[in-house]
Amino acid sequence: MTSGAPAWEQRWHPLREEWVVVAAHRQDRPWQGERATVSPPPAPDYVENCYFCPGNLRVSGARNPDYTSVFVFDNDHPCVGVEAPRSLERPPGIYHNAPATGVARVVCYTPKHNLTLAELPASAVTELLRAWRDQYLDLGARAEVRHVLTFENKGEVVGVSNPHPHGQIYATNFVFKTIETEAAASRRHYQEHGRSLFHDIIRAEQEDGRRILFDDSSAIVFLPYFARYAYECYVAPKETHASLATMSAGELHDLAVALKSLLVRYDNLWQMSFPYVLTLHQAPTDGADYPGFHCHIECHPPLRKPNLLKYLAGPEIGGGNFLSDTRPESKADELRAVPDVHYKAQDA
Ligand SMILES: [Zn+2]
Ligand SMILES: [Zn+2]
Repeated sequence: MTSGAPAWEQRWHPLREEWVVVAAHRQDRPWQGERATVSPPPAPDYVENCYFCPGNLRVSGARNPDYTSVFVFDNDHPCVGVEAPRSLERPPGIYHNAPATGVARVVCYTPKHNLTLAELPASAVTELLRAWRDQYLDLGARAEVRHVLTFENKGEVVGVSNPHPHGQIYATNFVFKTIETEAAASRRHYQEHGRSLFHDIIRAEQEDGRRILFDDSSAIVFLPYFARYAYECYVAPKETHASLATMSAGELHDLAVALKSLLVRYDNLWQMSFPYVLTLHQAPTDGADYPGFHCHIECHPPLRKPNLLKYLAGPEIGGGNFLSDTRPESKADELRAVPDVHYKAQDA
């Protein structure tokens, strides 16, 4: 394939089984070295009124321990929880409801208030992956938990009020829609071809090569052919694992290094702390078989430019399919062009 491939076409998203309309032909300009104009003042590494800093009181009245690495606790404002009302009024007609049982947890990545995942050493990112794995095993073993969704919302533009580096876990009595769709697509592909769907996505990315950001180990990072957001990237082990639970220590380490390299490139792009929604997709824990399910991390940054959000509008909200204003190959070029050493570390 040549770099002059059309920037005005529909691309099939094999995991979501839907079209993405790429309409970048009007505004597909080369990289212009944009830089965010506003950078927030540097924060201290400990903040007295932060609910997540070590030793501090939380809203629940619980006090955080003087933790030194990853710290996991039950969310003080759970959206699903063991205390959710069990006896509910039945709604009329075809409507139905269910108790919002499950477990919601917060995962603090580090005691340092002013760091981000991108700035942590690879060893700390590996430790986080181990914590995610342990949570998946612990929560997934509960009878009422059918799925464990691990995610991080980063940045004010995605609604995060506390900058202390942290993510969340929702262990729910239902399987989230995207996972359900991915699992069904993966199962069908496996039955038809005897191969993991995600594995075939990796092969197609490697065959093309233009959107790969990291391919040096047992892990890979790429901005997929079917990206919905301008800088959307996937981080995955190359071997098929349904969850982190079956990955070797070496594979977890490689995945951590790969993830860090992506997050560093994100920050380096505009020399700002890059906002994103990161999710770890692992197979449901409802006891069913998930042939071909291949765990991976998806990063969905909401920005198209330093101060320009991708607005979800008619096609996305009204219709349910994404219209991409940018060409994935160009965005991958931008990310490949920046160093994989964090700009703050370069200045130091
Ligand atoms: Zn804090
Ligand atoms: Zn996924």
